[in-house]
Amino acid sequence: MKFIRIKNCYKVYKNGVAAVADLTLDIDKGEFVFVIGASGSGKSTLIKMLYREEKPTKGVVEIGGINVGKLRNRTVYKLRRKLGIVFQDFKLLPKLTVYENVAFALECMGMKGKDIRPKVIKALEHVGLKDKTRSFPNELSGGEQQRVCIARAIVNDPKLLICDEPTGNLDPKTSKEIMKVLEDINKNLGTTIVMATHDKEIVNSMKKRVIVLDNGVLIEDHPVGTYKAKES
Ligand code: ADP
Repeated sequence: MKFIRIKNCYKVYKNGVAAVADLTLDIDKGEFVFVIGASGSGKSTLIKMLYREEKPTKGVVEIGGINVGKLRNRTVYKLRRKLGIVFQDFKLLPKLTVYENVAFALECMGMKGKDIRPKVIKALEHVGLKDKTRSFPNELSGGEQQRVCIARAIVNDPKLLICDEPTGNLDPKTSKEIMKVLEDINKNLGTTIVMATHDKEIVNSMKKRVIVLDNGVLIEDHPVGTYKAKES
């Protein structure tokens, strides 16, 4: 069974815009997949359908055997617990420390303090921020803030990590460091990663599977290591 199975999937927004059209795509456990395409090509819509921020208008989106589009609103949390999500803007809580920001995700799930601590420390170790547990977000660089977001996203050992333009606010050097962290998570924790990006340099250098969207249509699907972006 495929880990992510998207079949003949459409998303038409209320205003009539067809953001995704007849998309069929399978992703295996442990893959690292880039989703690329011009602005407005449907990358975010596809990502949002994976974590059920949006429901497909037609077709199937399945993750680990769960038909995501068919989930009732009150059970969406069960899906979200199995996912980690990283956005372009960091969405950290400014009044909480690094430790508290990461722990908060587990507290929300009703986990007890003594169970929380080792998980938070492990997640922060993974992203190289163990020495910043007491810092507040505004005391960190952009790259460090994004690392906290990644720690928060992996703290509950998700099978799937979804990233929407995670390097969009970062300079090239910091972006590379963030990509190293994501690659490490993929390799060493076995987490499946789906990442939307328009950063050609990153996509070229990482040599992963690359899916290209154009006007909501999947136009290319390049196996690992075969994609090379044209210079623009
Ligand atoms: P990308 O992430 O590649 O920039 P999006 O998925 O954000 O693409 O957008 C795809 C298309 O859907 C665009 O034409 C965009 O204007 C439209 N769109 C995105 N979100 C909405 C929405 N909530 N309501 C209506 N149209 C939307």
